[in-house]
Amino acid sequence: MAMRMSSLFLRTLRENPADAEVPSHQLLVRAGYIRRVSPGIYTWLPLGLKVLRKVEAVVREEMDAIGAQELLFPALLPRGPYEATGRWAEYGENIFRLTDRRGDDYLLGPTHEEMFTLAVKDLFSSYKDLPLAIYQIQTKYRDEARPRAGILRGREFVMKDSYSFDIDEAGLDRSYQLHRDAYVRIFDRLGFEYVIVQAMAGAMGGSKSEEFLATADNGEDTYVRCPECGYAANVEAVRVPVPDAVDASGTPAAHVEDTPDTPTIETLVAHLESAFPRADGRAWSAADTLKNVVVMLVHPDGTREPLAIGLPGDREVDEKRLGAQVEPARVEPFEEKDFAAHPTLAKGYIGPGVLGAEKASGIRYLLDPRVVEGTAWVTGADEHGHHVVDLVAGRDFTGDGTVEAAEVRPGDACPSCGHALETARGIEMGHVFQLGTKYAEALDLRVLDENGKLRTVVMGSYGVGVSRAVACVAESNHDELGLVWPRELAPADVHVVATGKDDAVFTVGEELTRELEAAGVEVLFDDRRQASPGVKFKDAELIGVPTLVVVGRGLAQGSVEVRDRRSGERREVATGDAVAAVL
Ligand code: ATP
Ligand code: MG
Ligand code: MG
Ligand code: MG
Repeated sequence: MAMRMSSLFLRTLRENPADAEVPSHQLLVRAGYIRRVSPGIYTWLPLGLKVLRKVEAVVREEMDAIGAQELLFPALLPRGPYEATGRWAEYGENIFRLTDRRGDDYLLGPTHEEMFTLAVKDLFSSYKDLPLAIYQIQTKYRDEARPRAGILRGREFVMKDSYSFDIDEAGLDRSYQLHRDAYVRIFDRLGFEYVIVQAMAGAMGGSKSEEFLATADNGEDTYVRCPECGYAANVEAVRVPVPDAVDASGTPAAHVEDTPDTPTIETLVAHLESAFPRADGRAWSAADTLKNVVVMLVHPDGTREPLAIGLPGDREVDEKRLGAQVEPARVEPFEEKDFAAHPTLAKGYIGPGVLGAEKASGIRYLLDPRVVEGTAWVTGADEHGHHVVDLVAGRDFTGDGTVEAAEVRPGDACPSCGHALETARGIEMGHVFQLGTKYAEALDLRVLDENGKLRTVVMGSYGVGVSRAVACVAESNHDELGLVWPRELAPADVHVVATGKDDAVFTVGEELTRELEAAGVEVLFDDRRQASPGVKFKDAELIGVPTLVVVGRGLAQGSVEVRDRRSGERREVATGDAVAAVL
């Protein structure tokens, strides 16, 4: 059924909302697609819901095409499974938690690895059941520290998340590639510019991971790209060689790789693990937080400097926890005076998963190059008492000869070909991820292999920001007058505008609407009797349906005007040819 402007649940606004800075946010609110309820929480109005459903349809088609099966999990989830994988703690303040009337803890799902893993464990038991890919298009909840730009970074948002289950790594590689190819088709169809960049594992654990970033100057992600060989990576994931450390006198210290006997940072990890055993005796995992620990860097001149170590990808958690701006992914010296300002720092701090994440994700915890020539002290006290580890850098541990992405600057050498790197910004639209066995291990998802032996299932996870895509499409499809939707995603294919006072324009507009609908074209019909042509055209430009058919002055001569919203091109066509002209 055509939408009619006379009754459509819509009020357009001429002014930008005060809290809206980016064009997509301004226009989606002004054109009546979304309404704000609370920071990062939005209502989808009829026009917006149409677009959301169309983005969903594109994603669904491409998922179905690779044989993924759709299901739907609840958003309200019990604590247990998230406790088992450590994410209840790891997500920190980023998840919404609630308690039921019996006092049991729940959360609103931020992503569903646990649920999918348990569902497969519940139903499948043999390698013959694999490979399997399942997905959902569902509302997710994350208490983002900085909800931003309307639906671009919401606290409630729609995500498509899929998960693959394979018997071995080779299977995972195939599943990953299938998803990656499907994502290329999805983002090609959504029609914005994007790049595929190497990504880091973040809080998920796992190994290979790539992000699909929509290129946007106001994006929150920074990536580097090599104009020579095409290498591209989120700066969080880039490694460039460490310049040789220089000692206090300016003399370069021996490079870590030159001293093959020097143990790696794993020694530091091992020291910490033995000094601070987990209460349950299990190995440290990416979800663990080691509190009450100070890592001291002792300079050659004896001055000591406390270091904060954070897990890359958890900046928001870290900032909330520390009450300060921090740059995880690197070891950061901080001022002695910070101890007074931040009580948590006074106890010392090592970010979530500094121990296990190193192993689980392959992220190397890099100590500041200066550590290489100093002595690092790890001192602290947990609830069991006081511990001191005295570690001599260069003897007990070293970096691995690389530094993290935060160090990358335009002009740095491409790790692949050596050419100078460029940086640019983007918005993360999709993320494909080889989880490996992290979740399957934590939740004991094993199946029988050909030899009747139990094998841990190898998993991948793959996300698309469906609601974010609506903002992103709007961001790259608008002009100064309003939105300009690509046809596949527009709330309607054709906007029929009847202008003037004659009954005839409304009658013909109505007939045209019916004929178009009969031909399978979705119509938004401006049948308002009171609104002036100026108001109608302004609204049409704002709403951004790709094709306009104006039934007005020309009708007396038997013609209507067909306008292309994007190019502005106008042509008169005989009323009888109007349907064919817009098909
Ligand atoms: P970001 O880096 O932007 O915070 P993320 O890495 O935390 O995203 P994932 O956990 O990889 O996000 O989730 C998969 C996809 O969900 C992302 O690629 C993104 O498109 C979308 N997404 C994540 N957080 C939000 C949000 N707060 N609002 C809207 N979409 C989101
Ligand atoms: Mg995030
Ligand atoms: Mg991200
Ligand atoms: Mg991501």
